[in-house]
Amino acid sequence: MQGSKEQIIIIGGGVIGLGIGWQLVKAGCAVTIYERNRAGRAASWSAAGMLAPVAEVHFEEHKLLELGGISLRLYPEWVQELEVDSQMSVGFRQEGTLLVAVDRDDASLLQHFHESQRLLKLKVEWLTGAEARDIEPLLSPKITAAISCVDDHQVDNRLMVQALISAYQKAGGVLCENMPVERIEVRNGVARGVIVQDILHEADVIILAAGCWSGEIKGLSEDATPPIRPVKGQMLSLRMEAGITPQKVIRTPRAKYGTNAYLVPKGDGRLIVGATSEEMGFDTQLTAGGLFELLRSAWEAIPGIYDLPVLETWAGLRPGSRDNAPILGQTVFENLIMATGHYRNGILLTPVTAREISTLILTGRTSETIAPFQLARFSEAASM
Ligand SMILES: Cc1cc2nc3c(=O)[nH]c(=O)nc-3n(C[C@H](O)[C@H](O)[C@H](O)COP(=O)(O)OP(=O)(O)OC[C@H]3O[C@@H](n4cnc5c(N)ncnc54)[C@H](O)[C@@H]3O)c2cc1C
Repeated sequence: MQGSKEQIIIIGGGVIGLGIGWQLVKAGCAVTIYERNRAGRAASWSAAGMLAPVAEVHFEEHKLLELGGISLRLYPEWVQELEVDSQMSVGFRQEGTLLVAVDRDDASLLQHFHESQRLLKLKVEWLTGAEARDIEPLLSPKITAAISCVDDHQVDNRLMVQALISAYQKAGGVLCENMPVERIEVRNGVARGVIVQDILHEADVIILAAGCWSGEIKGLSEDATPPIRPVKGQMLSLRMEAGITPQKVIRTPRAKYGTNAYLVPKGDGRLIVGATSEEMGFDTQLTAGGLFELLRSAWEAIPGIYDLPVLETWAGLRPGSRDNAPILGQTVFENLIMATGHYRNGILLTPVTAREISTLILTGRTSETIAPFQLARFSEAASM
């Protein structure tokens, strides 16, 4: 960017749009975020808030694991800055994650995981069932083995959304809620602005951060449209009661009965149980089967949850790209920047995305960190 007075428009007020906006406003830019509904109430609100590059990522996804590791290392400083700017806590917790095996199938899958984790030199420890129960006494006696991932942390994503809105606005960022962007206006190969309520709002730089709706916004040619799909996740929360208060994030290692079960304790007494992973388009209906399987998997890991009151049920849409990695950086239009497709890891990847995208806008340079994640990788793959 040539000077700090350029106008920047961000489409989408989730953690990604807000995180980038906050950093850019602090660097002296004039930023406006257009948000279709209420800011931060889509995937960013639905998430569990796990910061889990080790437990979450598949081992074929090396580059993504690396990106997750970079973002995780940025987290303590990010949280500190955000808490100072917003004057509120975001519930960052560093107790780590236990991946547990509830049967023999799980145990052999866990062994395979552990082997890959060791080869990647990740900080993990193999535990027997008894050792796992010493750490987390609420675990089922059926648990035969576990992996302790000490570096996988968590944040309260709903608090982080509120903190980002506050920090962004306090720094001078403009947030326009209930104002959907209908179209990106492109003329002579340059993105000029966005059309909102039939009015053109011009900008020097436009950042597309509209989560799973990023491919739906009109005005872009095929090669500038991100290939994003929604991936539905059903979740619920329970209210923890005396004696049933796990400290660590507990996960089972595979998508069992179509669900990938985890239990995430929050500082406000909620125990988040998630999540299904369903290719159902934009459908967000809750199903008896989805909730049943989540509860069954969670109960297998911690039987004591059986009597806990249910607080809330919901379904959210993860923004998944064609290869499930985020789409970050420049497009065929020089001033149209992508920050989307964060799929299962958008909360984890917010700090690195905010840092790298704002650096790109301020300096014009694409860092090595995000170079592998540009939109062009899809057209390059198609032409090979
Ligand atoms: C069930 C579930 C569990 C998850 N758990 C985790 C987890 O534990 N850890 C983790 O790291 N990640 C997790 N994720 C993923 C994470 O939530 C997402 O990757 C992240 O929130 C994406 O942020 P975003 O800002 O890109 O998208 P969103 O939060 O969806 O924000 C996009 C915003 O764009 C707005 N928008 C859309 N179209 C327009 C338009 N035309 N004009 C203006 N605004 C528009 C939307 O209204 C929305 O507010 C989970 C997701 C789900 C669904």
